[in-house]
Amino acid sequence: MNTLTQGLTWVDLQFHGRPQVIAAALVHGRGGVAIIDPGPTTCLQTLELGLQASGIRWPDVRQILLTHIHLDHAGATGTILREHPHISVLVHERGARHIADPSRLIESATRIYGDRMEHFWGEFAPVPTSNLVPLTGGERIEVGGRTFDVAYTPGHAAHHVSFFDASSGIAFVGDTAGVCINGGYVLPPTPAPDIDVELWTASVDRILAWAPATLMLTHFGPVTTVRPHLAALLENLKTTSGIALSLLKEAGTDEERSRAFAEKLRHVLRSHMTESQVTTYVVAAAYEHLFSGLARYWRKKGAVA
Ligand SMILES: [Zn+2]
Repeated sequence: MNTLTQGLTWVDLQFHGRPQVIAAALVHGRGGVAIIDPGPTTCLQTLELGLQASGIRWPDVRQILLTHIHLDHAGATGTILREHPHISVLVHERGARHIADPSRLIESATRIYGDRMEHFWGEFAPVPTSNLVPLTGGERIEVGGRTFDVAYTPGHAAHHVSFFDASSGIAFVGDTAGVCINGGYVLPPTPAPDIDVELWTASVDRILAWAPATLMLTHFGPVTTVRPHLAALLENLKTTSGIALSLLKEAGTDEERSRAFAEKLRHVLRSHMTESQVTTYVVAAAYEHLFSGLARYWRKKGAVA
């Protein structure tokens, strides 16, 4: 258990035994407990140990807040709800129907992970519609005795929201502020299908408008150098999307381009970090899948055929 401030903690979910890949945040106060991004089902035991370490029992948990519904953030939600049907799930309206019926989500993840799907993520059970509280952004919500602002922050995912606790200055930004492990390279995760560089840039402005003191990243942990961090994110998004565009303009198949992209990215990462850090980034961002989102973005924009 790691403390952000009184009543706000986070748990390293030790994804497949590896530290510093996925973090879940806990809000606990007089208004009960909320979990922000509970993580995948394969980490559920670690999450439960984290709750225990904070003296939290499941009946205390009233809400699950999802920044978005990707498996590494939201996978365990339905499994938790089956055991604890009193919990409300707050999620952007565009994510709500896919968490109520995750068949399309599972289908597209299976295209990526194939028969390793179950091993990586475990079950992705549906959440009953009656438990869902759809968000659009712009709301003020009561969470564990605090008031959170909700902002719609697409770019990484079309249904991404971020949460801000003005009293502590902490913003829970999911993947919108990228992946940054141990002060390493700020990597923009760009899996298919929703990547949009312009929307992502506007979302970063929306987060900056809160003037947060701390960004809480799912991958991984709190960042207090907010402005330079977000500037690096946008700079690196420009770099990686530029690499993708130049590969798209060359001859070859997408499979070849994707491999070339991963290789170039590994080279960039190696110039910034140690080999063991690079390996953690591979697990956290699965960067063999990052080309596809950028390719789709450029094609949608009409920049390439
Ligand atoms: Zn994501």
